[in-house]
Amino acid sequence: MSAPNPSQVGAQPGPGATSTTGGMADATARPLTRPAHAAAEADPAAGRPLAVVVVRDGVAPLGADEAVAEAGGVALLIGSGTKQAAAELPPLRRAWLAEAGAFAPARWAAALADVLADAGPLLLPASPDGRDLAPRLAVALDRPLLAGITALREHGADLIRFGGRVATTATVSGPFVATLQPGIRGTDAVPGEPELTEVDLDLPQRPDARVLEVLPPDPTTADLAEAPRILGAGAGLTRGGEPLGTAAVDLLGQVAAALGASVGSTRDVTDAGWADYQRQIGTTGVVVNPDLYIAFGVSGAAQHTGGLGTPEHIVSVNLDPSCPMTAMADLGIVADASALLRELADRLLPTEEGER
Ligand SMILES: Cc1cc2nc3c(=O)[nH]c(=O)nc-3n(C[C@H](O)[C@H](O)[C@H](O)COP(=O)(O)OP(=O)(O)OC[C@H]3O[C@@H](n4cnc5c(N)ncnc54)[C@H](O)[C@@H]3O)c2cc1C
Repeated sequence: MSAPNPSQVGAQPGPGATSTTGGMADATARPLTRPAHAAAEADPAAGRPLAVVVVRDGVAPLGADEAVAEAGGVALLIGSGTKQAAAELPPLRRAWLAEAGAFAPARWAAALADVLADAGPLLLPASPDGRDLAPRLAVALDRPLLAGITALREHGADLIRFGGRVATTATVSGPFVATLQPGIRGTDAVPGEPELTEVDLDLPQRPDARVLEVLPPDPTTADLAEAPRILGAGAGLTRGGEPLGTAAVDLLGQVAAALGASVGSTRDVTDAGWADYQRQIGTTGVVVNPDLYIAFGVSGAAQHTGGLGTPEHIVSVNLDPSCPMTAMADLGIVADASALLRELADRLLPTEEGER
């Protein structure tokens, strides 16, 4: 299979690639090839931002839609089931679909470096796969990497640093690779069907990460941004009764694990050192989007709920029936958060003698 032409991606479909819209037409995958002189042709997207989205089994990661929107609706989707994933990305206007099988970041980065040499800023969602592929792409393309940006600028990007306490703009003289923090930008849907172009990549033979075993996700250590259920610790839990502080967060973690949920917290709790910063939900913490959020002693400050996404169900356990968290909950439980947690622990956690 021939080497992909660098100027093809980020450009109009050329002779070596086929174009289709909305996933309806029967496009034929062909290698990206184009006569050398074609590189000089007018190319509307070359030099412009391009989202690069890793797809697993037809599913794009959290934040893929925002990366696509930030790149002006233009993307390269790589992995397995790219056409299916394209149909689930509302901001998509044009996409190149590279069916490349299972995630192979070293081989993909090498192949994409050829294809994307002339593209503008490359934007990957800051998902686990995006954060893995982005630095490899940056090295392969000899470009700087801007990790965890919030917006692209004309010659760089806006970044949040120091646990969300500093917002800054990085200026870069040439093209770069960036990862976009999910949950901040939001998305816009584009009317009409996207234009899709299937491409073949020449994947080089070289050592790559090998999957030895796939373990089911452990909710206690899983990336909070991807957790389907979260139990949130607020000051009303950690300062409210027994147990206190770290012990309360630990007990919440045990109950969460029994429910297949992850633990989140408010900034009050992380600032006090009772939970890791990675557990802080909010505008200056992790942006989450669980199906279920159970808040224990959380007041529901805007900076906290701003990072909550749109959970299908919210339960608020609070002594104050009119606090914002309870006001936005489907179910408000007016109770002492520590007492309710101890009750749940009694019912859900094994005792020394065995299961209760
Ligand atoms: C620039 C900036 C950025 C910020 N970023 C974030 C962020 O990313 N994430 C974040 O969470 N916060 C953030 N904050 C802080 C935010 O404004 C709130 O101060 C914080 O979310 C409050 O945390 P809390 O709900 O745990 O505490 P509180 O607001 O003190 O609320 C405690 C709640 O517990 C209830 N309560 C008390 N005792 C009990 C009991 N025994 N049982 C049950 N309920 C009880 C109270 O009624 C109250 O509703 C930020 C603030 C600033 C200024």
